[in-house]
Amino acid sequence: AYVVTDNCIACKYTDCVEVCPVDCFYEGENMLVIHPDECIDCGVCEPECPADAIRPDTEPDMESWLELNRKYAEIW
Ligand code: SF4
Repeated sequence: AYVVTDNCIACKYTDCVEVCPVDCFYEGENMLVIHPDECIDCGVCEPECPADAIRPDTEPDMESWLELNRKYAEIW
């Protein structure tokens, strides 16, 4: 899955939300999040993010971001 990281905080763009084919973006406390079980790993959102905040969870040190994305996505 892809995860949203700290560069998204206070970002006002929603380009990622508009391109996601499965609508798996949700609103977190001060940033957007991706539901990791709904993300189909298509990668379309990553280049659309003007803040470069969207990363694949296969990158190093993504565990805490993955947890945070899941936590806020599951509230909805
Ligand atoms: Fe949506 Fe694809 Fe981005 Fe996952 S990788 S959040 S499915 S646009």
